[in-house]
Amino acid sequence: MIILVTGGSGFIGSALVREILSTTPMHVVNVDALTYAGNEDSLSDITPHQRYSFERVDICDGAQLDSVFSRHQPDVVVHLAAESHVDRSIDDPMSFVHTNVLGTSRLLESSRHYWNDLAADQRADFRFVHVSSDEVFGDLGSVRNAFDSDSAYAPNSPYAASKAAADHLVRAWHRTYELPTVIVNCSNNYGPRQFPEKLIPHMIISALKGRDLPVYGDGLQVRDWVYVEDHARALLTVMKEGTPGSTYLVGGSNQVPNIDIVQSVCQLLDELASDSRSGLVESYSDLITFVEDRPGHDRRYAVNAQSTLDLGW
Ligand code: NAD
Repeated sequence: MIILVTGGSGFIGSALVREILSTTPMHVVNVDALTYAGNEDSLSDITPHQRYSFERVDICDGAQLDSVFSRHQPDVVVHLAAESHVDRSIDDPMSFVHTNVLGTSRLLESSRHYWNDLAADQRADFRFVHVSSDEVFGDLGSVRNAFDSDSAYAPNSPYAASKAAADHLVRAWHRTYELPTVIVNCSNNYGPRQFPEKLIPHMIISALKGRDLPVYGDGLQVRDWVYVEDHARALLTVMKEGTPGSTYLVGGSNQVPNIDIVQSVCQLLDELASDSRSGLVESYSDLITFVEDRPGHDRRYAVNAQSTLDLGW
């Protein structure tokens, strides 16, 4: 089986590529433009590998995508390539519209043309797994328990809106053309090889350098954290067991306010890196500073992952 992974040099994509190569006999074709967020070193411990190939291709380039499909003949597409950082989407929304909306539509079109020409049994087995976010559902507030597959779309940041638009395109390509797609909406991931501007790595690096640890607003924004390798395993489960046309939610049943995440990072660093702190502060938590909240900042996300657990995840 040949899996075409877009964004395989990013945080979650590299965890997925590693999971596929280390736990299955499948081949991986990683399609990644290596933007600022992509890093070939994220896979340096497992590549070169005889079941791995890399294509430096922008998903907005339809002709290049067509060539990748025709040369590699994938059985499955798992689409992770995206602009992924909310703060950047506030500063530069158009690059998010470009990659996340136009890029996803180009990938859908290349997939559809390729899929149309497959033999009947290959067409039935083909899957397009679209990796999306719980942020497309907007702000959960304090009353509702968790988002589920029937939650209404209500994105609040340019990032979330561009991911929501991509989800709608994927849904339409299934309904209109019967392309066998599934959508996975996942909560906040944590783990190794995340780009340093995201919350947890940003706090670790800043603390070790003795810099302020900036926390937005009151720090009480709640996120449902899931370990990145658990997400990668969920994607494999959905790829194998998911029903075309369906949406699956993935989360860790692990709702934590941002300030508690930052406090936990500080406590761990106090235990593990007390030397770097000496002479600076009593505890790394003394570096925490509250800064003006991000515009449009959602207060709470949480995910009911039962439909994915029911598949065997
Ligand atoms: P990331 O920013 O770490 O990686 C994105 C990857 O996509 C990079 O390797 C980058 O080079 C590549 N890329 C960007 N634009 C491209 C383009 N035009 N053509 C080809 N490649 C391109 O992102 P991540 O955190 O690994 O997220 C991966 C996916 O998962 C995204 O779709 C994101 O929306 C989604 N997601 C992320 C989280 C999270 O907590 N990180 C949670 C839920 C969903």
